[in-house]
Amino acid sequence: MTNAHSSAFQEVNQKVSQAGEILGLKPGLISALSTCEREVVISIPLRRGDDVEVLTGYRVQHSSARGPRKGGIRFHQDVDLDEVRALASLMTWKTALIDVPFGGAKGGVAVNASLLTNIEKEEIIRRWTRSLVHVLGHHRDIPAPDMGTDAKTMAWLMDEFHRLEGFQPACVTGKPVELFGAPGREEATGRGVAMIAAATLKKHKMKVEGATVAIQGFGNVGRYAALVCQELGMKVIAISDVSGGIVNNKGIDIAAIFSHKSLETVEADNRVGAAEILEIQCDVLIPAALGGVINEGNVAKIKAEFIIEGANQPITFAADKELRTQGVVIVPDILANSGGVMGSYFEWTQNIQEFSWPIEKFRKELDSRMELAFTNVLEVSKKHSVDMRTAAFVVAVGRVAHAFELRGSLV
Ligand code: GLU
Repeated sequence: MTNAHSSAFQEVNQKVSQAGEILGLKPGLISALSTCEREVVISIPLRRGDDVEVLTGYRVQHSSARGPRKGGIRFHQDVDLDEVRALASLMTWKTALIDVPFGGAKGGVAVNASLLTNIEKEEIIRRWTRSLVHVLGHHRDIPAPDMGTDAKTMAWLMDEFHRLEGFQPACVTGKPVELFGAPGREEATGRGVAMIAAATLKKHKMKVEGATVAIQGFGNVGRYAALVCQELGMKVIAISDVSGGIVNNKGIDIAAIFSHKSLETVEADNRVGAAEILEIQCDVLIPAALGGVINEGNVAKIKAEFIIEGANQPITFAADKELRTQGVVIVPDILANSGGVMGSYFEWTQNIQEFSWPIEKFRKELDSRMELAFTNVLEVSKKHSVDMRTAAFVVAVGRVAHAFELRGSLV
């Protein structure tokens, strides 16, 4: 999401440059890492009665230096080329940071997903797949769900891909468990966010039990983050979705409301606007919806001590600086929400091996690898006396730069 000064992609690249300078990378290499390898823009004619509406779709492949490109597909009305570039680039840094053998990509369609019927959604993703099949594949570029898409969407994608290219379930991740998906993948992003929240509290000598949490978002990330926070003993006192937010200082029973599609149908005495959720007095704030939601307009009103970025780029560059001056600890998106792509990696490897893991193994592997990435970021932040976001970029950019140079990609 943009602010008045720079675009979303420029904001990511500011961090890439900063990390590159700390690492002593040459300016040419930094600009290579700040550019996308390939950008495909397609038109998607969608049937509307006896006419068509033409939507715009994207797949941006940022980097394949460390492996096949990887990243979700977003259906949202605000999707544009700049946003997809930013998100593709974040995937490169995310996969490098958690050390899985992928590069980075992102896809999207500019459309309001909440207004689509299932048939329209299917039509859109099938057309998206047909138009992009030549740049996709389990060793080229592997899509996954993101905002506005889910396991069902990935099943249609896989089915379309199979019609064109033959059986290859590893061509996409985040599939339904009944159709080559992995038990544990759906909850993985939210679970990772909650585990990182707990680790952050512990690191700051705060008690996990009873720590108060506010969450913006009740989609896949927000709802599982809330559920696992509750399981870990935290008190979720506020949660919101597009319909608004609910607040209960005694703690909301997330398990009891989990099956609701929207918070609109949840009975609650205390309702607030969706944006107000960010300004609640709490220990941990988890923005798990759109980008750019914490910005110059509301940064002064943020009262949380810790912010765990469930969403991608929820804090603008300027607001990030301001929050750090106020002493707020921010765990960056590329670390905090990396459980999703970590889970995708597990699904991909299982598909390739045609072997499936029990969910306990999935969770154990996810938790220990997230912990490892978290500890590594803390160590690097100490070593360079920088905040966690900068440290995460130093780790990620360093790894991608090294792979880029080892490949001798310049010939
Ligand atoms: N869309 C998720 C993300 O932003 C997951 C991507 C994936 O699993 O490839 O990290």
